Parts: sequence; C-alpha cells; structure tokens
Amino acid sequence: MTALMKTYSKPSTTLVKGEGAYLWDDTGKRYLDALSGIAVCGLGYSHPAVTEAIQQQSGALLHCSNLYGNELQNALGELITTLSGMDSVFFSNSGTEANEAAIKIARKYGSQRGIDMPQIITTENSFHGRTLAALSATGNKKIHSGFTPLVSGFSHAQYNQIAAIEAAASDSTVAVMVEPVQGEGGINVPAADYLNQLRTLCDQRGWLLILDEIQTGNGRSGEYYACHHNGILPDVMTTAKGMGNGVPIGACLARGHAAELLQPGSHGSTFGGNPLACAAAIATLTTIRDQGLHQRARQLGRDMIQSLRHALEGEAIVKDIRGMGLLIGIQLQQPCAELVEDAKQQDLLINVTAGDTVRLLPPLIISDSQAGEIVEKVALIIKSFAKQSTAMAQP
Ligand SMILES: *Cc1c(COP(=O)(O)O)cnc(C)c1O
Repeated sequence: MTALMKTYSKPSTTLVKGEGAYLWDDTGKRYLDALSGIAVCGLGYSHPAVTEAIQQQSGALLHCSNLYGNELQNALGELITTLSGMDSVFFSNSGTEANEAAIKIARKYGSQRGIDMPQIITTENSFHGRTLAALSATGNKKIHSGFTPLVSGFSHAQYNQIAAIEAAASDSTVAVMVEPVQGEGGINVPAADYLNQLRTLCDQRGWLLILDEIQTGNGRSGEYYACHHNGILPDVMTTAKGMGNGVPIGACLARGHAAELLQPGSHGSTFGGNPLACAAAIATLTTIRDQGLHQRARQLGRDMIQSLRHALEGEAIVKDIRGMGLLIGIQLQQPCAELVEDAKQQDLLINVTAGDTVRLLPPLIISDSQAGEIVEKVALIIKSFAKQSTAMAQP
C-alpha cells in the first residue's frame, strides 16, 4: 500500500474475484454489484465470451504496434461504426485519451478554418477526464485545482441550457462538447430534446458536436449510444468505460468531414487498439448486440426507477430520482458519502457522486430478482440514513 501514490483514498475493501453480478472480497464476503467498476463491466465478471476471447487472443498475438495491420482492429472498427452510426474510429486506451483525440479533431477543424485560437464550449458539472486538455475541458474547479496553467480554448456554460451555450459562443467557437447524461456530475439527465437542439445549433453555426459517451455508451443508457434516443448523431463521439468489459480500451469516433481531419502523423498511440483489447471489445459489443442488452438496460432502468420511487415515496430526504437505462441517480437533500459503507453492510456495492447522489450502475446482465434486491437494499439504507439524520438534528 505504501508504495502507491495517494491518488485514491484508502480503500476499505479489497476485491479478489467476480462472477456474474457478484464480487468477493479478500475475507470471502460476497457482494451484489450495483456499480460495475464505474460502468465498465456491463457483462459482469468472468463472462465466458470475454474470458474466452482474451484467452484465445493471448495465445495468438497480444500486441503488434500500429506500424502493422491488425485484423481485430479492422473488425472492431466495422462493428463499432455500425453500432454507433459513425464513419470512422481511432482506438485509445482510456476515456480521457479518447477525449484528447476529439479535442485534437476540433483544433484541426479550427486550424483548417483559419481560426487562431479555436474555442470549445463544454458544460458546468461535466467530467471529461484527468489528462490536461480533458481536465481543462471539465467544468469543475476541484478537478482544475493545483494544475494551472490549464490548456486554453475551453469555456464552460450551464448544462441543459441552449441559451447558455449561445451566450458562451464567439467567432472562435469551433465545437460544443457535452455528455448526453452527466455521469460524475450526478446523473443529470437533460431535457428530452437537448441534444436535438444542440445538433441544430451546431449545424447552423458550423460547429462540431462532440458527445462524450464514455459513461453512457455501449448499451448502458438503453440504446447502444445515448444519442440514439434522440435520433441524432454527433460529429465526434467518444466512448470507453463499458467497451472492453474491463480490458482498457476507448474509442474516438467521427463522422463526415470530422472523420477526415486526422491524417498520418497527426495522432497515434502505442497500445491503442492492440489485438488483446480489440478481442475483448469485439466479444463485449457482440454480446451486447446479440443479447439485446441495451434494450434490457432500458426496461430494467425504467422498472428500477419506478420501484425506487415507490419504495422511497414520502421520504423527505430524497430530492430526486432520475436516470436513463442503467444509469440511475438518487439525489438526497444532504451529502451522503457514508451510504457506500452502509450498503457494504448489506452486501451491496454502490457509489455516491457529486456528494449527495447515490449512483447505481449495475451490470447490464443482472436478473430481475437482483435488480429487485438492489432497489430493496438501497431503499432500506436511505430510510435508515434519513432516520439517523433526523435523530441527530433533534436537540
Ligand atoms: C470516466 C469518464 C471519463 C474519463 O475516462 P477515463 O477512462 O477514466 O480516462 C471521461 N468522460 C466521462 C463522461 C466519464 O464518465
């Protein structure tokens, strides 16, 4: 432990094994997982399709550099452009790197149009990653703190407000970059036509629309990619988390003119799209497609939100219950980080984000009864948390 940088607060649980929607810690205790390693393991743990693909690929070719052709990268490229509706793809190793590629596409677009200092509008409360350009894009002072000078060329406007985007615009604006649902920011679901309005605005102004689907993508929102709910496509889309079911891989997808902007020599990655990661992603995405797990996520999400609303009806501590597919947020009236430990005592793994919002991102493969168990336990811990808080508030 002491050898590790203190980037993460000291974990109170050490996980050693997983199967389906269950995880085991180093004492042998079993947990039902309602987090999926933060929207990563959509197929749960030890999924046979992924395990087999990795095992087979590791005996054939793990890595070969992008100096050489790689059949798996071609196959994954075909698959993910078909599922997303985009034209071309660049593979990265993480979400933040996918966003770096997207930002470089926007810069290239600006440079082609003769704009010296191209500006990208992003939103407040957003999260786009931890590398310098991505953290500068992120609309959260805490993420910026201590890392100045930030990368210039970003301005932040209120989320879910078209007028705010327009107000932040200038002659140098080249792109708007948003999450279809803000994940880290608290599962903030915008108005149903927000993305449509953004699409129209970007078309009118000649701006690129960049959608960060790193958390919403790969079936989690109830569609393959969340923008499909709106029947629109961005010019650039990034994704990562759920793409390789735990094997690190991300993608920056582009469409139309934006798909032509990066040329030989303008971008690259040593590991990006290597055979192992591609094999895992092909297995993951074909499983989601063949089993219709995106549709399953849509139905389960609706049911779980409805049951949560029912179970927590009349609880004054609950401010809002919202979500899309299996991205579910329960916002309380007060900070509630301790609920993570309370849930562990009920053998359940959850997360709290934005301080006051319980975030549920269960694997897409959970059964109806596991979904029911998550709802029941989450309602239970919130109710007893509410009782404790009222007791403490009394003199
Ligand atoms: C997690 C996340 C990122 C960063 O991805 P990493 O793989 O951690 O670099 C970026 N954007 C969104 C919306 C995310 O949820």
